[in-house]
Amino acid sequence: MVQTERLLKLYKDLIRIPSVVGEEEEVAAFLADHLTAAGFEVQVHRYGEEARPNVVARLKGEEAGPKILLSGHLDTVPVHDGWETDPFQPVEEGDRVYGLGACDMKGGLAAMIEAARSLAESGEAFRGEIILGFTSDEEGRSEGTYSLIQDGLIEADMAVVGECRFNPMVLGFRGRYSLDIEVRGEVAHASEYPLKGENALINAARLAIGLEELPVGEHPAMGKGSACLRYFSGGEPRVLKVPDYCKLLYERYVVPGESQEQIWEQVQKLVSALGLAGKVSVSWSKRKGPFLEGFAVSEDEEIVRAAAAAFQEVTGEKPGYGYDPSVCDANYISQLMKIPVLTFGPSGANWHAPNEYGLKSQVIAAAQVYLGMLQRLLT
Ligand SMILES: [Zn+2]
Repeated sequence: MVQTERLLKLYKDLIRIPSVVGEEEEVAAFLADHLTAAGFEVQVHRYGEEARPNVVARLKGEEAGPKILLSGHLDTVPVHDGWETDPFQPVEEGDRVYGLGACDMKGGLAAMIEAARSLAESGEAFRGEIILGFTSDEEGRSEGTYSLIQDGLIEADMAVVGECRFNPMVLGFRGRYSLDIEVRGEVAHASEYPLKGENALINAARLAIGLEELPVGEHPAMGKGSACLRYFSGGEPRVLKVPDYCKLLYERYVVPGESQEQIWEQVQKLVSALGLAGKVSVSWSKRKGPFLEGFAVSEDEEIVRAAAAAFQEVTGEKPGYGYDPSVCDANYISQLMKIPVLTFGPSGANWHAPNEYGLKSQVIAAAQVYLGMLQRLLT
């Protein structure tokens, strides 16, 4: 049985520890101690030049069996303007708890911990292994999860990511690819244009319109891919010259079936069709790991069925299934670990915005659902 008071205390304790992306040290240390005291086998894993922390905690069953990864992120987005309460103090209002990370995703962390702990404390024998993989940098570039996977620390047969998606549960996310594009022209005195010089901004504008019109992929369940030109910069406002350089950042949200190669080809063809060959250089934006690819898991996966049955038992309702237009750590788990991953956790509102709040009732229900799911899979 889930202990709700203990669960809600942990939830609020986590909100009190600031963990803005890049500053995850304190919350990692807190959780390492908390999980050790709760009987988990704990490891603080570090990666990168700054030795940023991930926390991995294990509970091993008595016999061999499935390994289940419960994944969550330690970090939050930075504080946005407009908070009406202290974002690092949980403020309760009915079922709501206001605070940074109250929705995304400190309730998910607390619920996962409580579920695993409750199973161990129940005295009921279980098989297999529960692995809590709590990561830094999810709000950055998912380097925490990437490093845990690369270092072989969260090998598992199936996974749940505890992001704030309660009902519908999320079976898939789109992927995201980014291209850096440089467009060149030819410098001249601005007064002599267009007789002399070639305007890189005009070249870039023609390319930008072309990019906007490129076809995107479509997936039967997830819908369409999309594109966003996110950056466009060139010229010098104080100097009378024809701009000879413009930089663009073009981003594609992709559905399963759209590949990096296809997008590369689309852009190259467009550049040629516009007569801009030789004036445009295109490169994939640099990042530590590969780009996040889109994925969709089947409703028939064991982990989905177990979570859905537990959800129905806890709430009395069948969960819906949805797909998310953005990306998260679940993308890397699917793409690099090649295991089924369900995204489900307690929700609320205003995440990535001021006055974020979570719902206590969902934190409790999510813990009960995780517990029911673990029991179905491991006992
Ligand atoms: Zn999140």
